[in-house]
Amino acid sequence: MSISPLREFVCAMTRLVESRGNAEAEVMEPARDLLAALVRRDDWLPTMFAQADPTRYRQYLLHGDPLDRFSLVSFVWGPGQMTPVHDHLVWGLVGMLRGEEIAVPYAVQDDRLLAGEAAHLRPGMVDAVSPTIGDIHTVANALPDRPSISIHLYGGNIGRIRRHVFEPVTGAKKDFTSGYSATVVPNLWPVA
Ligand code: FE
Repeated sequence: MSISPLREFVCAMTRLVESRGNAEAEVMEPARDLLAALVRRDDWLPTMFAQADPTRYRQYLLHGDPLDRFSLVSFVWGPGQMTPVHDHLVWGLVGMLRGEEIAVPYAVQDDRLLAGEAAHLRPGMVDAVSPTIGDIHTVANALPDRPSISIHLYGGNIGRIRRHVFEPVTGAKKDFTSGYSATVVPNLWPVA
């Protein structure tokens, strides 16, 4: 296992936001290509950022841009685990690394939530959310017997953004700030 694909991704993303800023219209497409290249192989995620927890899905920060222009997070779902219905308020890309996930988009209509068509994500696939293309969804592990892992890229520091979870039947909205599951991030410069 080598961390270099992750380091190269962080370097390329940093160059991208340096040259273009972090607005969806400017960077989401090139960022999608970078994330697709990152999840095309599954030999770089350090084991400690791939650990499931029996009680709740985990979100490990892999890299936070110091100027909050983007963040990269490893989401690990144990069997049967899923997110609540939630929004992001910034653009987000979900790159599937391991296992299989089900993403369900929601639309708001007359203060109610309408579930859209579920997408099955398999390794190498990239899904997108944003305030312009649809920002509300759930993500669930599709596998009953093992963890699934996806790598999420956001146009901001997602763990620090005050956003919302929704009650799926009534559509009632509650503030939330997700934070991260660990107090450490991967060392991108290990001694070989
Ligand atoms: Fe999400």
